[in-house]
Amino acid sequence: MKKFDLIVIGSGSGLEISAEAAERGMSVAVVEEGPFGGTCLNRGCIPSKILIHCADVMETIQRSELFGIKAKVESIDWQHIIRRANDKVDEEARDIEEGNRQSPNITVFKGTGRFAGEKILEVNGDQINADIIVIAAGSRPFVPDIPGLADVPYITSDQALRLPEQPRRLTIVGGGYIAAEMAHFFGSLGTEVTLIHRRHLLIRDEDEEVSKRFTEVYERKFNLMLNAQVSRIVSRGNEIVLDVASNGNTVEVVADVLLMATGRIPNTDLLQVTATGVETDERGFIKTDEFLETGVAGIWALGDIVGKYLLKHSANFEAGYAANNIFNPDHKAPIDYWAMPHAIFASPQVAAVGLTEQDAERMGVEYVAATYNYEDTAYGKSIEERDGFVKVLADVETGAILGAHIIGAYASILIQEVVNAMRLGLNADAITQSIYVHPALPEVVQRAFGELQYKIDQAKNPAHSHQEHG
Ligand SMILES: Cc1cc2nc3c(=O)[nH]c(=O)nc-3n(C[C@H](O)[C@H](O)[C@H](O)COP(=O)(O)OP(=O)(O)OC[C@H]3O[C@@H](n4cnc5c(N)ncnc54)[C@H](O)[C@@H]3O)c2cc1C
Repeated sequence: MKKFDLIVIGSGSGLEISAEAAERGMSVAVVEEGPFGGTCLNRGCIPSKILIHCADVMETIQRSELFGIKAKVESIDWQHIIRRANDKVDEEARDIEEGNRQSPNITVFKGTGRFAGEKILEVNGDQINADIIVIAAGSRPFVPDIPGLADVPYITSDQALRLPEQPRRLTIVGGGYIAAEMAHFFGSLGTEVTLIHRRHLLIRDEDEEVSKRFTEVYERKFNLMLNAQVSRIVSRGNEIVLDVASNGNTVEVVADVLLMATGRIPNTDLLQVTATGVETDERGFIKTDEFLETGVAGIWALGDIVGKYLLKHSANFEAGYAANNIFNPDHKAPIDYWAMPHAIFASPQVAAVGLTEQDAERMGVEYVAATYNYEDTAYGKSIEERDGFVKVLADVETGAILGAHIIGAYASILIQEVVNAMRLGLNADAITQSIYVHPALPEVVQRAFGELQYKIDQAKNPAHSHQEHG
């Protein structure tokens, strides 16, 4: 048995901890079964956004006629598109692995780790242990059990970002953000996309007004099958044929490539975390306290595997807290997830922070909500953004910002100022009283807050606020 001061399982967000431990002179083991850098770098955020930019460029060309410019796309160099995304990330993954191997205090174990006993990890036949173990082993695609699926060559997001050829017809099963982003990527570049989703709205965790608008837009762009269940899948020559039951009918959907984007599950089962006494919740995610320590003293967990938010910036944020709490035990800090944002890099983009209107209703919060359309601002008009809007919510009594929901161009950028205001504890009036560059797009956020502030004022003092607004 080899003994280390600290073991990190997973080379995604966990590397922040191993790097700091090594810097402090501790002996460290890093256990990784795949390429270094984890999901975000190798098969998630980074390659997907590099690819999606190509779709955005294509869409700009296709919309150019709206601006009086007639343009035609001659051809698409698919291999270039895929190489541009993956060559960069593969090189970075190799560099990260090399950097770890060269560090004098780090030993790299390239293989699948499995707990074999209390604080004992088995990897490639070796047993290693440490007093401090950080489990940052992430999640993997979840694929439901559909008759026939196991016998057809389906893909998940793990393969979707590296397809050697552009599919002519792609069927995506799922309706969350990965399905939405992949539909945009392939569809904008000319693949015929069918989206099969068992609910009546796509991206249904968003504010309902946003999910509805998004679903409407996707209905215009793609072959969208909602309230639909896949009952059977078979291969027919080079085609994949799905029987899809929707609204009382069963239809056949034929695809060249089938992408299952049906959620993600934690890697706790394969890692056998229960063998070291670490508890998981009913969905298999690791249970931790507010300091990110599991029920076993000295075993910490962070990132997708704790299941709080399955987002890279959340995993990084947790890694910062975990590092502090491991290395400064006298100054431990509970993690503060307040105002955790997210974005969907589809077309339209979607971004949000805080409570949705349905959350606020469910929680019985006294809130006001206001909405402002992009096309009612100068910049929104100039870019012909006709579907976009910003919706904001605040507490009626205090004016505290409760949430913001943006659908439309640059939503992932526009959300940031609301996140910053919320993290700093600023109220809605901080945004209305600030000075915005005219006629830049953030005016749409400020105007939504202007409407919101008016409603707050009116709720508090109807006569006075009416005059001011006029
Ligand atoms: C297609 C896609 C797009 C995404 N886009 C975004 C986005 O735009 N923005 C965003 O914030 N998030 C996005 N995400 C989510 C983001 O990638 C994850 O939240 C993030 O990578 C999680 O980091 P992590 O450190 O928890 O886990 P990972 O980065 O997954 O790291 C875990 C590592 O552990 C390794 N591992 C697992 N089990 C074992 C084992 N038993 N032994 C050894 N090694 C093991 C894995 O190989 C992996 O390298 C996307 C995800 C996908 C799939």
